[in-house]
Amino acid sequence: MAATEPVITLKNFFERAREGALTAVRCGKCSALAIPPKEFCESCHQRAWEPVALSGQGTIASYTIIRVAPARHAAEAPYAVAVVQLKEGVSLLGRIVDLPLDKLQVGLPVKFRPLVVNSQTALGFGPA
Ligand SMILES: [Zn+2]
Repeated sequence: MAATEPVITLKNFFERAREGALTAVRCGKCSALAIPPKEFCESCHQRAWEPVALSGQGTIASYTIIRVAPARHAAEAPYAVAVVQLKEGVSLLGRIVDLPLDKLQVGLPVKFRPLVVNSQTALGFGPA
C-alpha cells in the first residue's frame, strides 16, 4: 500500500508544524504546491507529491477579526484569523498571535508559529 500513501499525510504535517516546520507538497507532474497536503493535485488530479519545506514567512492576504467565537474559543475573543500568502506562493489560513488587532493590515509580514493547546496543534502566525 505504500505506493498509494501521500508522502506527507495530514498527521505528518501537523506533527512537523508542532515542531515549527511548515511542510507543503509539490506535484511532480505539474509543480503545483499544496498545503496542507491533499490527496490529489487540484491542478492535474495526479498523486505524485514531493515534500517541500517552507520558510514559514509570508504576508497577510486577508484577515477577519473574530469577536464572537465558538464556545471553546469564547474566552480568547476577540482574535484574528488570516489568510497568509507564504513566500513560496501558497496561502494558508491561521490564527494571528502576538500582534495587536489594530495593527493588522493586508501586506503585513508575518511568520508561522505553531499553537499547541492540549496536544492539539493549530496553525498560527506572529510578528515576522
Ligand atoms: Zn499536479
